[in-house]
Amino acid sequence: MPDALLIPCPHCNGLNRIPADRLADRPKCGRCKQAVLPGKPFALKQEGYASQLRGDLPLLVDVWAEWCGPCKSFSPTFEQAAVQLSGRCRLAKLDSEANPQLAGQLNIRSIPTLILFKGGVEVARQSGAFPLPQLLAWLGSQGVS
Ligand code: ZN
Repeated sequence: MPDALLIPCPHCNGLNRIPADRLADRPKCGRCKQAVLPGKPFALKQEGYASQLRGDLPLLVDVWAEWCGPCKSFSPTFEQAAVQLSGRCRLAKLDSEANPQLAGQLNIRSIPTLILFKGGVEVARQSGAFPLPQLLAWLGSQGVS
């Protein structure tokens, strides 16, 4: 692991440089002073997308919509995963209805869909909701654990 990691702020999209040994210390954003790694999913939006893809931690995006039942039942699982993976992977939720352009750009055909990005590039994608152990196993197979 490098000495410091570049991590975009989920609140203001500012890029922070966080020492690797401080990841567990609830680092605050240099710009907006809010938590850089809140330990819960943040809302990914069209305007912050390019910034959020940057940085050294993998980004896992849950694409959902308000009307989608399976998306809602998957939500608590995704939140648990955010706690478990805090400091190792960033988790975000993309409301496909509120961000139709981005959903189109990502070629979303069904929801829920999970997309894993590393280094700004999509490395894996899964459709459908699944239980936490299975989610963590899938991420593990992608080198995120
Ligand atoms: Zn910030």
